[in-house]
Amino acid sequence: MTYDLLIKNGTLIDPAQRIHATKDVAFTNGVVAAVGDDLPKADAREVLDASGHIVTPGMIDLHVHVFAGVSHFGVEPDPTCLAKGATTVVDAGSAGADTFPGFRKYVIDVSATRIYAQLNISSQGLLTREIGEFEFPEYANVSKACAMIEQHRDVILGVKVRLTKHSIVSERSGMLPLHRAREAADAAGLPIMVHPQDAWCDSLDDILAVMRDRDILTHCFHGWKCGILDEHGQVRTSVREAMERGVVFDVGHGAGSFNWEVAERALAQSVLPQTISSDLHVYNVNGPVYDLATTVTKFLHLGLSLDDAIAKVTSVPAHVIQMSDRIGTLAVGAWGDAVIFELHAGEFQLIDAHGTARIGKQNLVPTTVIKGGRVYSAS
Ligand SMILES: [Zn+2]
Repeated sequence: MTYDLLIKNGTLIDPAQRIHATKDVAFTNGVVAAVGDDLPKADAREVLDASGHIVTPGMIDLHVHVFAGVSHFGVEPDPTCLAKGATTVVDAGSAGADTFPGFRKYVIDVSATRIYAQLNISSQGLLTREIGEFEFPEYANVSKACAMIEQHRDVILGVKVRLTKHSIVSERSGMLPLHRAREAADAAGLPIMVHPQDAWCDSLDDILAVMRDRDILTHCFHGWKCGILDEHGQVRTSVREAMERGVVFDVGHGAGSFNWEVAERALAQSVLPQTISSDLHVYNVNGPVYDLATTVTKFLHLGLSLDDAIAKVTSVPAHVIQMSDRIGTLAVGAWGDAVIFELHAGEFQLIDAHGTARIGKQNLVPTTVIKGGRVYSAS
């Protein structure tokens, strides 16, 4: 047999290759073996008919929390990410230097989901809801973070910091964690990922002043202080300048970090997120986030084309984490991850992180997930 698996007759949307057409895709030995107009069924051990369906590369979620059993945010990655089409995810700071070896051993190395991580600059990571990771400034430990990055460079992609005053950062920690994250990331040659809302500073300008090319500002459409809009609802000049110099604006929907009005105002001013991520965790997996595809559906409602929205969960995040040759595309030779979707038409209630609803006309629903060239099933 030439192919292990062949997906026939689907509408292939692969923004990395600028493909939006009816195409067949075949996989062999875990990688994409061929993309073509009529690949022969006889050459494949298993054939899936995707007529009337959309076929995309496996989605990449740049912001999830999957350190289940240790971090209070953690969900199990395989049923909540992989089974829902996010074949590659980045855990955004659930683990810090004190807890990362356990995250590696008991989650990253044993999950079917492909997991990378942003290391929290707080050495404890996100253990408990009651005591914030920067209650004590001593938790922001640069040398411990750097040592852990050196041991796990194959999976640690950057340094995460959360800056919210309430229940995360004490007054005496203030803005120190941001500067410690910068220091550790610079020493390691990696970017930072910042959760900015309601920090101990005047506005987002003070945070963006520390951010550079390849750094990620997550929760970019949150509705709290330190947001991307000024008091008149205009996108801040500092935001446009940061985008110009290559700071990545990422959705990170979460339980409190996606506001319809902020997103609508930003898009009306031609400011779009580069990447769509879910910030999936215990407190939103049963709504309002559910999964990454539901977050993509919200951006279809906001007016993004299907191709643009798919790009923001495939080719663009692959580029951001410098893995464009392996993931986020179905180019021949790429790792064999794909999703088969149904795009439903109708009326769908879409809820933001504040409980505000919009009615969408489309709903993107993953039906089959392929990981490493095989159909993924939970059993
Ligand atoms: Zn998060």
